[in-house]
Amino acid sequence: AGQKANGSSESVEIPEIKFTKLFINGGFVDAISGKTFETIDPRNGQVIARVAEGDEDDVDLAVEAAREAFDHGPWPRMSGQERAKIMMKYADLVEENAEEVAALDALDAGKLFALVKAGDIPGSVAQLRYYAGAADKIHGEVLKTSQGFQGYTLREPVGVVGHIIPWNFPSTFFFWKVAPALAAGCTMVVKPAEQTPLSALYSAHLAKMAGIPDGVINVVTGFGPTAGAAVASHMQIDKVSFTGSTEIGRTILKAAAESNLKHVSLELGGKSPLIIFDDADVDVAAPLALTGILFNKGEICVASSRVLVQEGIYDELVKKLIELAKSWVVGDPFDPKAQQGPQVDKNQFEKVLSYIEHGKREGATLLAGGKPLGKKGYYIEPTIFADVTDNMLIAKDEIFGPVLSLMKFKTIDEAIARANCTRYGLAAGVLTKDINTANTMSRSIRAGTVWINCYFAFELDAPFGGYKMSGFGKDSGMEGLYK
Ligand code: NAD
Repeated sequence: AGQKANGSSESVEIPEIKFTKLFINGGFVDAISGKTFETIDPRNGQVIARVAEGDEDDVDLAVEAAREAFDHGPWPRMSGQERAKIMMKYADLVEENAEEVAALDALDAGKLFALVKAGDIPGSVAQLRYYAGAADKIHGEVLKTSQGFQGYTLREPVGVVGHIIPWNFPSTFFFWKVAPALAAGCTMVVKPAEQTPLSALYSAHLAKMAGIPDGVINVVTGFGPTAGAAVASHMQIDKVSFTGSTEIGRTILKAAAESNLKHVSLELGGKSPLIIFDDADVDVAAPLALTGILFNKGEICVASSRVLVQEGIYDELVKKLIELAKSWVVGDPFDPKAQQGPQVDKNQFEKVLSYIEHGKREGATLLAGGKPLGKKGYYIEPTIFADVTDNMLIAKDEIFGPVLSLMKFKTIDEAIARANCTRYGLAAGVLTKDINTANTMSRSIRAGTVWINCYFAFELDAPFGGYKMSGFGKDSGMEGLYK
């Protein structure tokens, strides 16, 4: 093994791009303006396809369809069991077409084809099945009052939902958002990220095949400041569920406040700490810390971008980390041997490289990587910085790339203080054999998820969401349905 870029695509067949138009009211249509935009292959910067560029007028049409489907259509009026049956069919179709959906995400986002097929798609299928199972179990409560009346609550679908999703897990976030909304009886407009529109359009086609009525799911591809902004400020959308950067989350909250005060759920950025105590097993900790940052080339909101290591095992752990980083295989996302593909686009590639330069200038010690890889495409070496202090930019900002910041600590109090020394609060990890340390850490870290002796342990039943500037609201689990 060794680092390389632009490996072979071997036997995986790259799919023909079948769906490039907006999906509105059950059919694929051009943008009203007739405009299209390019979606780019991050392996080589070449155009994969031209996709319809929706804007405010198209969002209006999509919302009209969703509104009609909510106010008069069958979906919210069906029994939960009927919705569940159609959702189960949808899940089966996604499962049967896993290869095609995975190839679209790999092409558009530079994600590892094999991992999307074996991880992201089964995860999406499971989300659909989980919420299908919940669709006929949504009920309120009977209330006793002090004045002799009896009251009851109903859980009602919120109405038309706008889902604005990012590019790092295109199909996963499509289904994370769509599945609970379908179960509740909502109708929706999905705005995928402009970098990765293809799997959402394909998934809309599968929804139609599954029998989801027209107007229930609409997909408007296009740019954030036009199509996205139109969703956030639309007077006929009852809720916007957003996953993306903290900066745009703030814009969306403002747009919601200044339009119809729609409900808002925000899943935003992170700068998650992984804290490794002296009693952890180095042979387990080192690979976990490395995949914590390199999984999905660091383009994951819960990346373990700050690794805090207790002084007793620091040297041994760092040695192991460097060895592992040097044998990590960067290459074509369709190559089964690759462990890391290219960054999603030129912007992200340049942004990550500029953070690496910052880290060097700020005085952090570069232990591994630090450079782009290959002659074409957006590949970056796995990069490790040591001696990172809390006030360096690379410790504070979400880089969203394969760049790890290592920090040494002495005591548990120092670990807690430094773990919390961030404006974000999405996730954290703790590696220790001591149950008291584990419990103290999980209660003291201000983050929505704290993983103990594991990382990236996403469970269907566990709600996922942030503290602080990582947002509010929940995806996943029953809270994902109710909030
Ligand atoms: P982004 O905020 O730039 O874009 C996300 C989506 O918002 C895209 O669909 C984009 O078109 C749209 N958008 C952009 N400007 C808009 C505007 N003015 N109005 C409405 N919509 C607009 O984020 P990104 O770069 O695509 O994704 C990376 C970010 O997403 C990172 O910060 C990452 O941490 C975050 N993220 C968070 C989670 C989570 O669950 N908390 C998961 C994945 C990614």
